[in-house]
Amino acid sequence: MTLSLQHHFVDALPELATPTQAHPFAEPRLAVLNEPLAAELGLDVDWLRTPEGTRFLVGQGLPDDARPVAQAYAGHQFGGYSPRLGDGRALLLGEIETPEGLRDLALKGSGPTTYARGGDGFAALGPMLREFLVSESMHAMGIPTTRSLAVVTTGESVLREEGALPGAVLVRVAASHLRVGTFQYARASNQMRVLVKLARYALERHHPEDLQADNPPLALFDHVVADQARLVAQWLTVGFVHGVMNTDNVSIAGETIDYGPCAFLDAYSPGAVFSSIDTGGRYAYGNQPTVTQWNLARFAEALLPIITDEEAEAVEAATAVLNTFPARFNDAWMATMAAKLGLAPETEGLVDLVTELHGYLEASGVDFTTFFRDLASAARGDREPVRGATLELERLDAWLEKWLAHSPDASAMDRVNPVHIPRNHLVEEALTAASAGDLAPFEALLAAVRQPYDPIPGEERFTQPAPAEFAATFQTF
Ligand code: AMP
Ligand code: MG
Ligand code: MG
Repeated sequence: MTLSLQHHFVDALPELATPTQAHPFAEPRLAVLNEPLAAELGLDVDWLRTPEGTRFLVGQGLPDDARPVAQAYAGHQFGGYSPRLGDGRALLLGEIETPEGLRDLALKGSGPTTYARGGDGFAALGPMLREFLVSESMHAMGIPTTRSLAVVTTGESVLREEGALPGAVLVRVAASHLRVGTFQYARASNQMRVLVKLARYALERHHPEDLQADNPPLALFDHVVADQARLVAQWLTVGFVHGVMNTDNVSIAGETIDYGPCAFLDAYSPGAVFSSIDTGGRYAYGNQPTVTQWNLARFAEALLPIITDEEAEAVEAATAVLNTFPARFNDAWMATMAAKLGLAPETEGLVDLVTELHGYLEASGVDFTTFFRDLASAARGDREPVRGATLELERLDAWLEKWLAHSPDASAMDRVNPVHIPRNHLVEEALTAASAGDLAPFEALLAAVRQPYDPIPGEERFTQPAPAEFAATFQTF
């Protein structure tokens, strides 16, 4: 058996694709295989587990007509523009046809490419397992995300600050790997033809109905604004902090992409930052909507010349769309907050309830995830869990009275408020064990985050908040 790969991206946009071969790792070994995803994609799980299948998963023994490429893109990193980033350690193997449309099959950690700059092109096992785990969790919670098909250890080590670490390749599946940075790169190439082709390609992949729109690039922009507004709202409602929201990490397909120094809130805090490189707090938890809008403005700038050749007119049209972002974000966020509180979205006084709630959460420092499950208990008549966790009793009690007056639906709350998220202390524990050769804690945590809403009897530790001293000092990177 082998796998049939298509090459739509290289065929459509050779200007943005550099043919590249994966590094010939001598001893690839399957560490984790995503069997449900493999089945969804129509891949043969038994074959993927054979030595031949595993070699395929690191880009070796590809069909003769395969054309793996590194993709070019630019990007604003922490606000500063880099004209040439691209896949420094990633390869697009090609696309596979699925009932839901084309999916990119790509590798991360597969060796240096022409875009590697100073990097070695490789990846360590820990971060690749982190991406696998967190993307599975996001998917299980219904949040658009790239998926992880497999992590394969390479048999080679990679050198990082901590020393020599086991190397690995992540096999990633995405609706596409088009990024805001891809458009920035095409725009800067000064070949309008490439930009036009790229916009058309993005519409074909993601919104084919709008190829015939009055203004296709503007229609594309409108979709991406809508999708990103919804996405960042969903991130906030599960306490997700992406950590590195550079424009090259913003997917045109609307998926969460590039899990690096990401983390989930323990205590609610708008200023929460987990990455030591984000010294200014640019990508702090509560800053994510603002940053998303900033990134979308950069997307609009890249599109301007193909919206219309009258610059002022193009700016006006794009600005009108960009200005829909705050309301779209707010609607999505309020609707999800209503659901988390067991209320209908049209509940009177919802905005005040949600605003006051966040004031309470910030003042009390309670565990964000646990709080909403404890609230469901309060909706069932037992206020002890939610009251027992706080020193801000007066404030909480006042809020509870107002909220309970709306008769929240406790069962509905338990269907949307997770008990299992990749809590930072659990992720660290699982990755440390995995890097020392023991995958069992990783497998157990993976099983838990794949069922976000249902506690596992005997595995209560997966639902418990982090020890306070851990939560206070944790950094991802
Ligand atoms: P990221 O922060 O993961 O979004 O990556 C930003 C840029 O750095 C992208 O162009 C990556 O391909 C590149 N990059 C990150 N790590 C490495 C590495 N170890 N080797 C080569 N390029 C890398
Ligand atoms: Mg559509
Ligand atoms: Mg990236």
